[in-house]
Amino acid sequence: MLDAAFVTSAAQLSGAPPVSVPEICFAGRSNVGKSSALNALLGRRKLARVSNTPGRTRLLNFFAVRLEVEGARRELSLCDLPGYGYAKAPKDEIARWRSMIEGYLAGRAPLRGAVLLVDVRHEPSPLDRSLLEWLAAQGRPCLVAITKADKLARSRIGAAVAAVERGLGLPPRSAVAFSAQTGLGCDALWAAILRLAG
Ligand code: GDP
Repeated sequence: MLDAAFVTSAAQLSGAPPVSVPEICFAGRSNVGKSSALNALLGRRKLARVSNTPGRTRLLNFFAVRLEVEGARRELSLCDLPGYGYAKAPKDEIARWRSMIEGYLAGRAPLRGAVLLVDVRHEPSPLDRSLLEWLAAQGRPCLVAITKADKLARSRIGAAVAAVERGLGLPPRSAVAFSAQTGLGCDALWAAILRLAG
């Protein structure tokens, strides 16, 4: 059983909804497959489309999730952070993004951890590394999910995941290979998210 609903969007931490359940945020560069991953995880084709709606792509988007795991009910809040990394984004926009994300990561009390999404075919970007550093600086644990794993032959996924882990300075076998298209890694990512949520 899994039930998910869009709650609200916020331009900054002060607009985040009050929640009394653990929150997990999702981050990654634009086009990494974040909406597709959220839809796959939440089992709803259209749910994360709200985050891709013009006007909402630069906001924090919050979802309320209820699920039943081994007979026990769990409730979570998910926050979809704005995608980053448009090469042509003006400097003041990057500065705004940075202060929004830093404010959220530093000040969001219910936040238990983050899921950072990285494309299986790309080197992690400097912003991916910055985000990991900010998270570490705030003492926020982070899971890394390697998206679009279906784009590679099965035999090549392990090496590609290891390359991303090295690029991010993570220990071997700490990241989860994921595909919204095939469902690969969906259960593993949920299990890891629930462990983060505590
Ligand atoms: P976002 O900008 O990070 O929210 O990315 P989207 O979820 O909108 O996906 C960006 C593009 O990548 C779209 O064309 C998706 O169809 C494609 N995509 C996303 N996830 C997958 C996946 O698991 N496998 C494949 N092959 N394509 C994907």
